Amino acid sequence: MKANKENFDAIIIGSGIGGLVTASQLAAKGARVLVLEKYIIPGGSGGSFKRKGYTFDVGASMIFGFGEKGYTNLLTRALKDVNEKCETIPDPVQLEYHLPNDKTIAVDREYKKFISKLSEHFPEEKEGISKFYGTCKKVFNCLDSMPLLSIEDPAYLFKVFFKAPLSCLGLARWLPINAGDVARRFIKDAELLNFIDIECFCWSVMPALKTPMINAGMVFTDRHAGGINYPKGGVGKIAEKLVSGIEKLGSKIRFRANVTEILLKNKKAVGVKLSNGEEIYSDIIVSNSTRWDTFGLGNNDKGLIARDYVPKNEYKWSETYKPSPSFVSIHLGVDGGLIDKSFNCHHIIVDDWEELEDEKGVIFISIPTLLDASLAPEGKHIIHAFTPSSICEWDNLSRQEYLLKKENYYSFLIKKISKLIPNLDKNIDHKEIGTPRTHRKFLGRYEGSYGPIPNKKLLGLLPMPFNTTKIKNLYCVGDSCFPGQGLNAVAFSGYACAHKIGSKLNINNSKLPE
Ligand SMILES: Cc1cc2nc3c(=O)[nH]c(=O)nc-3n(C[C@H](O)[C@H](O)[C@H](O)COP(=O)(O)OP(=O)(O)OC[C@H]3O[C@@H](n4cnc5c(N)ncnc54)[C@H](O)[C@@H]3O)c2cc1C
Repeated sequence: MKANKENFDAIIIGSGIGGLVTASQLAAKGARVLVLEKYIIPGGSGGSFKRKGYTFDVGASMIFGFGEKGYTNLLTRALKDVNEKCETIPDPVQLEYHLPNDKTIAVDREYKKFISKLSEHFPEEKEGISKFYGTCKKVFNCLDSMPLLSIEDPAYLFKVFFKAPLSCLGLARWLPINAGDVARRFIKDAELLNFIDIECFCWSVMPALKTPMINAGMVFTDRHAGGINYPKGGVGKIAEKLVSGIEKLGSKIRFRANVTEILLKNKKAVGVKLSNGEEIYSDIIVSNSTRWDTFGLGNNDKGLIARDYVPKNEYKWSETYKPSPSFVSIHLGVDGGLIDKSFNCHHIIVDDWEELEDEKGVIFISIPTLLDASLAPEGKHIIHAFTPSSICEWDNLSRQEYLLKKENYYSFLIKKISKLIPNLDKNIDHKEIGTPRTHRKFLGRYEGSYGPIPNKKLLGLLPMPFNTTKIKNLYCVGDSCFPGQGLNAVAFSGYACAHKIGSKLNINNSKLPE
């Protein structure tokens, strides 16, 4: 057994965007941190991998938080804070929905254009549409007008309140509210309410009644304010640049460093143990692993914390939130001639509203080469498509059954995508198929889940835990913390985590961010 000789102010387990923003913020404040990543690339679900000249995004490819103004552009800010920047390509349309009854609705970058097109589909609900999305805008304006980068620190909250009292009060009002309840105040048409459901589902994997209004306000407005912007070179560039910024500031990241245990002494976190037996010590440990994987919740035999020391409130959390389904994902390299230049980058297909939350109920399609041709060899495109799928569909299969099932899901996805891109199956140059088992193995995520979803309807975001845990010196960051899934959301979690640790280390800037 080896032990480290270097001193680190904090150890961060995992290099997802939540972990990297925590690390980069701490490094920017002057701390020396060590990031331990079990895989060979940074970014987790927000990373990119290369095959045969193609650069594929692991998961995320519709990126919020890259605007230039306001306070919600956390990816731009996180990079800038460590003297880095991603060149981005603006996406003129966030997403094109292909819905039952042959309805096709595109969400334009320009707010007025989107509202007017949606109102053409639902003329009776013109006023309701304006009021619902207008309310989302109000929530966003509160968020965007104050530097709310920590919620756990009363002194910081007081300063923010002093700077923007009305925004703070405005925001507090929406914390316990869900988007579906707000939509129902203004909208009666069942099909339009279904549309609001898929608008939420495509990033929260929940219908609107279970999606917190704060998150909806953020997503439904930032896409028009800062806009959706794709990082040139692939989404993995965000993580790569954060790593570069962290290293330039004297901190470290190690790959193939699989943490198997968080070491405790007198009930305090004091270090970590790796799968090779190495022990590394620090007074502060941050887990970017999911709460299920950190605390051994759900059906997990073992988490990173020995079972006897798992705080009771973590079990309570796992009764309140359950893991969302995972996905079956396919990554394709295809002939460029198949797809017209004017085609939109992101698409969602729903054939039956009743199937929204079912296995294979929704199909997500992204073609990032329409924004950045450098992601594929000349004359080729990338298609990344995925559909929700549960781990229970994939466990306990023989090797042969598993491979056969993979091919069945692959054929299902190809058939669906072919409705938008004809002749697809004859023009595929490269293919990769990932199942919930792949997501579990390569992203280290419990059941390969996309993230926590409420077990029942909850009071908006209120029950989502912050970064501090009941174990002294142990913090959590990422999508099982407030405010949930998505790159910009976990970036918030990273900012908040670094702020909390920064006040303990006494390295926080006393001024509010500009
Ligand atoms: C298919 C898909 C599509 C998505 N699309 C979008 C999108 O378009 N836009 C968007 O904003 N979001 C999207 N998301 C969601 C977004 O990617 C995630 O919410 C976000 O990346 C999660 O970040 P995180 O920091 O919580 O951790 P993760 O991304 O889960 O990263 C955690 C990291 O920790 C490492 N790790 C875990 N355990 C250990 C251990 N014991 N030792 C060492 N390392 C460990 C993992 O290997 C991983 O690298 C998508 C997700 C998926 C799966």
